[in-house]
Order: sequence, then C-alpha cells, then structure tokens
Amino acid sequence: MQRTSESTSGATPSAWQPASRIPVSVLGATGVVGQRFVRRLAQHPWFELRHLAASEKSTGKRYAEACSWRLALHGDDEHYAGRGAQVLVPCTPEAAAAPLVFSALDSAVARELEPRFAEAGCLVFSNASAYRMENDVPLLIPEVNAEHLALLVAQRRRTGWSGGIVCNPNCTATILSVALAPLERAFGIEQVLVTSMQALSGAGHPGVPSLDAAGNVVPFIREEEEKMATEPQKMLGALRGGAIEPAPFLVSALCHRVPVVDGHTEAVSVKLRGAPTPQAVREALTTWRPAVTSDLPSAPRATLRVHDAEDRPQARLDVESERGMTVHVGRIRACAVLGVKMVLLGHNAERGAAGASVLNAELAVRQGYLA
Ligand code: NAP
Repeated sequence: MQRTSESTSGATPSAWQPASRIPVSVLGATGVVGQRFVRRLAQHPWFELRHLAASEKSTGKRYAEACSWRLALHGDDEHYAGRGAQVLVPCTPEAAAAPLVFSALDSAVARELEPRFAEAGCLVFSNASAYRMENDVPLLIPEVNAEHLALLVAQRRRTGWSGGIVCNPNCTATILSVALAPLERAFGIEQVLVTSMQALSGAGHPGVPSLDAAGNVVPFIREEEEKMATEPQKMLGALRGGAIEPAPFLVSALCHRVPVVDGHTEAVSVKLRGAPTPQAVREALTTWRPAVTSDLPSAPRATLRVHDAEDRPQARLDVESERGMTVHVGRIRACAVLGVKMVLLGHNAERGAAGASVLNAELAVRQGYLA
C-alpha cells in the first residue's frame, strides 16, 4: 500500500439543498466534456437535466444517434440509456435556456453564444477560454478562490444581464493552481517552471489523428502555454475593490500531448519566498485546508492528495479516484535550480472541465447567485 496524505475540507457535510431541483442545460452535449456533463448530471441531487444542445448537424437527432459515446458506463448505464432517446434542441436561448447552463462549446462558438444565454437570464458555467480573462468574469476553483464569485455582481452591473458567465480555468492550469494555492498562502511564489504531458482527451473528439498520437509525443498544443502563463495568477490573485489583483509570480510552461487517454501530468519546479525545504513544502500541501466545500455534492473528500511512493502519481492508477476531482502530488524533492520540484496529476475532463463546472454551479447556488 502506498502512503498518501490528504488535504480535506475537514467539515461535516450539511444537509442543505435547494427547495426543488433546478433545471439545467448542456451546450456541446455530444463532445468529450459534454458527455461527462450528461453522466454527472443524470443523477445530480440538486439539478435536473432538461435540455441537450450541440451543433446544427446534431439538432433534431436523438442523443444516442448524435453522440459517439466514449465513457465507461458501469452503474450509470440506466441513466445514460434514459438520455439516449432525448432529442437535441438548437443551441439557442430560445430553445435551450435554463436557470443554469453548462457550456462545453469550443471557444469561438462560446464567444458568440454564451453572452446570449447570460442575457436571457441563464447563469452560464463555461469550459471555453473565450471570457476567462475578462476583468469581471470569475475564473473559479471553489476550494481556491470561492470569493471571486463576487465578480458576478460587477459583471451584472456592467452588462445588465440577470444571468452571467462563470468560467473554469484551462484544465492544465487548474491542476497547477490547486497545487500552488497552499504554497502561495504559506510562502509566496516567485517563479514556476512547468512541463506538461497532456492526455489525448484534452483535445476533444476525434482530436489528435491516431498516426500523430500513437507512440509519440507532440511538443505543441495551440495557445496552451499562454494560458498556463496567465491564468494561475488570476486564480491565485486577491479580490480588492471589486477587481482581481493578479498574484505577481512568473510561470514558464512547456506543453506536450502524449498518448494517455485521460489525465494530465505536470513536472513542476517552484521558487518560493524564503526557500523552504521540500519537507516544509510537503507539510504545507498536506496541512492545507481548502475553503469549505464539503456541503457541495461534487466536492471531493480530498482536493489534494500527496503521495510518498517514489513512482506515483500515475495517470492509469490515480486519475479516476474521487470521480476525477482530486489533484495528486508526488515526488516532492529539492530542485538545484528553483528550490523545490514535484509531479502533479489531475483529470483534465473532470477536475479540469465537467466536474469543475458542476462544482462551480453548486457553489453559486449555495451562495445565492441564481438570478
Ligand atoms: P469536443 O469533443 O470537440 O466537443 C465540442 C462540442 O461542441 C460538441 O458537442 C459539438 O457538437 C459542439 N459544437 C461544435 N460547434 C457547435 C456550434 N456551432 N453550435 C453548438 N455546438 C457546437 O470538445 P471538448 O473536448 O468537449 O471541449 C469543449 C470545450 O471544453 C472547449 O472549449 C475545450 O477547450 C474545453 N475544455 C476541454 C477539456 C477536455 O479535457 N477535453 C478540458 C477543459 C476544457 P457536434 O457533435 O454537433 O459537432
């Protein structure tokens, strides 16, 4: 058995729940992330999956016909089977509006469509990069920066929308930021050098052509390094006077696509203020108590899990734990250049996408942001 340590929220789950289940829609329901939304929402205790939408080529088809289902079904079989007969509606607010809307749209499509849903009164939880870096759009990880949701107030004031847009970060940046959050709080971060090995599912379906992917490493993912260099500072920034003051550290990222199905691995070196030892860094990671989220149905028991085994974490062994919502840290050791280095692993399509958005929506509902 490997030894692990977990950063848990430490609170007892409360029985809070909305007075009735809240209708939700999924945009881009047929894709890699959309399918995970459908699986997660099929039996959600607070939300009721109402509309499924995708592109024009899918509109009017039954879900089972429009979608090339890619997920293992296990105990979810019957829930998916129930969805298979559902007819996809047009991806417009007229056809697919609901109080909560989960968007798994590509960025260009999201840029056009998400504001239309927000204007129609929907609270949109987006996986796309289109609006992530807007000043008044929360880039949210509930355990890390729940207070950033307050940006919705400024967003609604500026736009006049009764709905709004809340983004989850880029999947690779999410994994990095969850691990950096305790270090920023405990020491302060000066510099980060990160090399990613990113799963194929991160490119959507059909994604990378098989002849490029099999037995290969592709050292380029469009716009990924730029997102890694800017999003963590917004997430770990401070909310001051209704705006985010980004954390001042630098990130240099090198991103690679590798032939792994699910799970991004990241090799990280960090320069921290005061040059703490690897033991002190391990201690900061294991004793971190994330903002309390244990009363949210999609919150994992452990947001961070620190592994001591010398060959962990591994995508094949660790990425599915806690329904893909845990970020794994291992191999914490001295770095001759920046001070400390370690390996991170997280589920790109759950912690980095569908699971993250559902958790964000739960937090927004819990904090009373539903229009
Ligand atoms: P994907 O597998 O390519 O799915 C794209 C979805 O968008 C499909 O449902 C597609 O429907 C729909 N779509 C395409 N054009 C549309 C249009 N004009 N109107 C309405 N729907 C349209 O992509 P994905 O991997 O799920 O990614 C979705 C979003 O999540 C992207 O912004 C991506 O960057 C982000 N994201 C992905 C991951 C990941 O691990 N994959 C992680 C984090 C963030 P049809 O089937 O009808 O074409």
